[in-house]
Amino acid sequence: MTDESYVKIKDVLNGYHKDKEVKMRGWIHRTRSGGKIVFMVIRDATGTLQATVKKGNLPDEEFEDAKKALVESSLILKGTIAEDNRAPGGYELRVDHCNILQFAEVFPIVEDQSPEFLMDKRHLWIRSQKLNAVFKIRSTVVGAIHSFFRTNGFYEFDAPVLQPNQCEGGSTLFEVKYYENKTYLSQTWQLYAEAAIFSLEKIYNVGPTFRAEKSKTSRHLSEFWMAEMEAAWLNLHDLTEIAKDEVKYILKEVLKHNQNELETLNQDIEKLTHIANNSFPTISYDEALSILKDKENMNVEWGKDLRTIEEAKLMNHFDTPIIVTHYPLEIMAFYKPADPDRPDTALCFDMLAPDGYGEIVGGSERSTDLEYMKNRLREQGENIENYDWYFDLRRFGSVPHGGYGLGVERLVSWICKLENIKDAIPFPRTLTRFSP
Ligand code: ATP
Ligand code: MG
Repeated sequence: MTDESYVKIKDVLNGYHKDKEVKMRGWIHRTRSGGKIVFMVIRDATGTLQATVKKGNLPDEEFEDAKKALVESSLILKGTIAEDNRAPGGYELRVDHCNILQFAEVFPIVEDQSPEFLMDKRHLWIRSQKLNAVFKIRSTVVGAIHSFFRTNGFYEFDAPVLQPNQCEGGSTLFEVKYYENKTYLSQTWQLYAEAAIFSLEKIYNVGPTFRAEKSKTSRHLSEFWMAEMEAAWLNLHDLTEIAKDEVKYILKEVLKHNQNELETLNQDIEKLTHIANNSFPTISYDEALSILKDKENMNVEWGKDLRTIEEAKLMNHFDTPIIVTHYPLEIMAFYKPADPDRPDTALCFDMLAPDGYGEIVGGSERSTDLEYMKNRLREQGENIENYDWYFDLRRFGSVPHGGYGLGVERLVSWICKLENIKDAIPFPRTLTRFSP
């Protein structure tokens, strides 16, 4: 089926096949006919192209087929590529053979349909130009994550998806019946990654992550993809430097490979280029509160996490992502250590994106203090015996280490300026949706 003799729309639009006789295949994106002529816009994975079917230029029965074929019919066309200023993209296919592979039924999606309807028809809506562009960018993002870590000496390491413990708080666990027992879907790869750094030292992973997020927000999915890293011998500063380099590297890859898609999505390419080539400031949680108080007249009580609205207001003062370090220890997960110089804060950080997109990365050093972690888990009502295997990591050659997780959909949403994170993943799972 990968017949080289079929040309791709992108190549046509780049002028490679001008005045040549070509074979093309794809789907009807739009069509209208007037008597002896059918104007189609056809699409393949690479773009859309005008195709003109004129009676007399092809066998009559093929012309009649072209005339009656509805949107989303699949087809093979033969014809000549002509330069034509009136055609979008400057080229059109003048058809002399039209073979409809399947005559589509009336396509249920027309303009201005509600987001919920489009979600019900997601299996068809993923053909849209918008989602085509988003998923191409997503593919670049995930590819860039792999190449960033691999070229920096990290090994890809996989953890189980079915896990016996929580790591990020029991309230967002998905329980799975496991023979006569129960397990949970992975909320993070971290605890297993912490075991693996004693062997591989520097590791990363991109994988599905599950959290039962009980509040509906435009930034939370129940199933999302997290790109995580964990490494031995790192401190908080090292972690933030790697996270900044990673995000800038990903942006540069998207700018290199996805100019067309960014244009389809009306993105400001200059602005993204500026961000990819600039430094990202680092501030502390305390400084964040001061900015909110002095410049936004917003009082956040010390000790409270930053909410979406507060992150957005804070980001009014930055045009690149920023790192916020040293959140209050009290609100952090059990494995985050206190800063010895400021024991009410944790050696942790978030990276926040501009334009109201909020947290895209979260990470920390990991505690090496067994008693402290046990107490924190007990406070949360956990049975610490379940964590005994994890505590072994602090009993046999414990070393300073840390890691972070980047939300793939959060990053894609921000790069593409999506209104809702659901459009950053092909088939979103949320509080209220798990189909199609
Ligand atoms: P938030 O405060 O936004 O719920 P979090 O502190 O729970 O995030 P972490 O546990 O630090 O997030 O997870 C690392 C990264 O994974 C986050 O920075 C974010 O990019 C992403 N992430 C976390 N939860 C979700 C979710 N429900 N849907 C999509 N991405 C998520
Ligand atoms: Mg959360």
